[in-house]
Amino acid sequence: MDLLNTLVDKGLRRELPSREEALAVLATSDDDLLDVVAAAGKVRRQWFGRRVKLNYLVNLKSGLCPEDCSYCSQRLGSKAEILKYTWLRPEQASEAAAAGVAGGAKRVCLVASGRGPTDKDVDRVAKTIDAIKADNEDVEVCACLGLLSDGQAERLREAGADAYNHNLNTSEATYGDITTTHTYADRVDTVHKAHAAGLSACSGLIAGMGESDEDLVDVVFGLRELDPDSVPVNFLIPFEGTPLAKEWNLTPQRCLRILAMVRFVCPDVEVRIAGGREVHLRSMQPLALHIANSIFLGDYLTSEGQAGKADLEMIADAGFEVEGTDQVTLPGHRGGGAGCGSGATDGCGPGGVCGSHESGEAAQVAEGAEARTDLVAVRRRGAGTDLAPNA
Ligand code: SF4
Repeated sequence: MDLLNTLVDKGLRRELPSREEALAVLATSDDDLLDVVAAAGKVRRQWFGRRVKLNYLVNLKSGLCPEDCSYCSQRLGSKAEILKYTWLRPEQASEAAAAGVAGGAKRVCLVASGRGPTDKDVDRVAKTIDAIKADNEDVEVCACLGLLSDGQAERLREAGADAYNHNLNTSEATYGDITTTHTYADRVDTVHKAHAAGLSACSGLIAGMGESDEDLVDVVFGLRELDPDSVPVNFLIPFEGTPLAKEWNLTPQRCLRILAMVRFVCPDVEVRIAGGREVHLRSMQPLALHIANSIFLGDYLTSEGQAGKADLEMIADAGFEVEGTDQVTLPGHRGGGAGCGSGATDGCGPGGVCGSHESGEAAQVAEGAEARTDLVAVRRRGAGTDLAPNA
């Protein structure tokens, strides 16, 4: 297929595909799906070999957010029955992080709900980073605290944060349909602030919110312009109790095409499969590893993932290896630093698709998609509970 040969050549040269080529990937047929995965896999292996980076989410503060992001189970007015708690103490967060590190994670993502941190919150997170690094010297720490004010990114960098996550989520044109309490430009500004402070920028998207192919291409091209080190790709978890609860728009095949498009547009960037991996890719998760080079281990912010042990078995069975702390994530021309990529679609973070559903109404299931509410489990273990975390 000429399209795929062209995209592989461009990906190996780190050359930006055209918008038409990116759209064409999303429009490929199921008959071409394995060819699409194989082509994206060639680009993935060029820059990341067969390594899979594991990341671990710690939800420092859950729920009760004043913002109205419609995909988020922690939003203002959310009726999703998620865990709600205020800031974890540094030692509690460190304990949660240690479980992820013991499970094989090389990055810990510290996420807090809310519009953005106060300076006091940043001090609190600085103490948490200290506590985590005291126990696990080599671990990378990514903070995800919402919109940053002047000076806060620098303070986090001084405190030892390696990266900062703030997702664009969707295209500029549709941003106002998803959230009214802040803008796409606000989000871009925070990614710039993270960059300017010397933090590895992590910024990604949420697919499955009813957006068009053009919207998906727009947001991915917007990300490429911001040049983050990592791009988490979330697949909407339509949580009961949120405005997007009925949006079941994704099939495993569609998820694979979206991941491939992201890989072609951002060939040498850490592409992370984030929230919604188990719900939407389902038994196709191993194929997605041929495209993405990073996943979250264990649970997400407000929903449960598959068992950490199952993640590790899947990686080994698919012929990949978990990236060690002695291995550099990014290719040398990107500085070889730590790619970020929070992947939470259940909230602010890179792994927190906040899903919800309006009770009593039938789901509007897109053609070919299935409303797999049976696969959505609200997180009831780990941070903020007395139960052991999944790692
Ligand atoms: S995504 Fe973040 S800012 Fe938006 S409602 Fe959820 S927790 Fe609040």
